[in-house]
Amino acid sequence: MKQTANLTNPYSDDTQSKITSTPAGMAHWAASGPEGKTCRECNFMLKHGHYSANSKKRAGRLKPIKCAKHESMMGRPGASFEPGTPACRFFEQNPNPPALIQSNWKG
Ligand code: SF4
Repeated sequence: MKQTANLTNPYSDDTQSKITSTPAGMAHWAASGPEGKTCRECNFMLKHGHYSANSKKRAGRLKPIKCAKHESMMGRPGASFEPGTPACRFFEQNPNPPALIQSNWKG
């Protein structure tokens, strides 16, 4: 959320930190879920197994994801965000999470 420079920050430092670290499209605050878990390992992650092929920066890496929990709560798809984002409180363990880097990548 963008703020005007001359206005007082309406949020506590804690809330401001959560706003800053949570990308659009998540179902709840980033890092409000189990410690050490990321959205990549969550059952609500969409686009399982989609890897970038041509991007110089991301080649062989898991593409940005969408969250099915966010979509079910909002009634429409949310923005895509990085799969390595710290998990939120709605996290549900995927027994077979996709690798962050494609296993047969030869880059
Ligand atoms: S942890 Fe799961 S429910 Fe929460 S934002 Fe990430 S993918 Fe969505």
